[in-house]
Amino acid sequence: MINYEAILSEIAEEIVPYLSLGKVADYIPALANADLNQFAMSITLFDGTTYNIGDFNTRFSIQSISKVFTFTKSLNIHSAELYNRVGKEPSGNPFNSLVQLEYEKGKPRNPFINAGAIVITDTLISHYKSTEATFENTLNFIQSIAHNKTIDFDSEVYESEYKTSFRNLALANLMKSFGNLDNSVDDVVKTYLKHCSIAMSTKELSRAMLFLANHGTDPISQQNFITPSQAKRINALMLTCGHYDASGEFAFYVGLPGKSGVGGGIVAVVPNMMSIAVFSPGLNSWGNSLAGTHALQLFTSKSGLSIF
Ligand code: GLU
Repeated sequence: MINYEAILSEIAEEIVPYLSLGKVADYIPALANADLNQFAMSITLFDGTTYNIGDFNTRFSIQSISKVFTFTKSLNIHSAELYNRVGKEPSGNPFNSLVQLEYEKGKPRNPFINAGAIVITDTLISHYKSTEATFENTLNFIQSIAHNKTIDFDSEVYESEYKTSFRNLALANLMKSFGNLDNSVDDVVKTYLKHCSIAMSTKELSRAMLFLANHGTDPISQQNFITPSQAKRINALMLTCGHYDASGEFAFYVGLPGKSGVGGGIVAVVPNMMSIAVFSPGLNSWGNSLAGTHALQLFTSKSGLSIF
């Protein structure tokens, strides 16, 4: 029997020296003043038991973790056709890189880099016919997988990121020039940023991700959100692409499918067992939570739980 409570307490102590080593995502002005000392970690098991430590009820900007939810939604709607517009290979490049997109003619490598998530948002807008309906459906989806209707977006983070979103607009313009964006650049980028500015706590995130640990069906409510084969593919992409050009590092040290966001959150799943979320706003040079990654590495080492 694994003593999760004891493991979380040990982790919360052992990560302290790592908290101040990261750097906040100051390219989004509203995130520049985040407190580097914040740390939270939550686990949700299949029977609904949760273990939490730190600021686990504090909501933070989920940023790129939202890409898992929008990709899930879009895959559910468009199925494999989606791969005509976005690939399924690791990029080996930073999350907001323009270079590869130019020589690969506007087709992003995967749905978890910015360019890929922008295309995914475009497919959702085409389906729902308006930016408002797209955001509403995405938020509703997140609220239903988290079983929490109070989850919402943070308008300050959204406004602040939009004002400095030069690279995302450049990526969207480049894809538009290659014919890989159907809706207006501004509409797509704004909606994408609104998804990124959704705020959740680690407790809520670990609950929300549980369906991906159980082949697409929430093990607590038995609600089905996606097919087993789609869940398998999302997990595969989280493992190979969920941490951008540090995805190899994450697989090597943590050994779980996971997705990070520049808000400092990381979600990970232990297939058939649990979902884990961690938060600490200091980022490493790849834009992934530094103490958060270390916490997950400690968790898989101490518990012996990893997919390898
Ligand atoms: N909204 C962020 C951006 O577009 C997301 C990046 C991330 O979390 O990795 O730059």
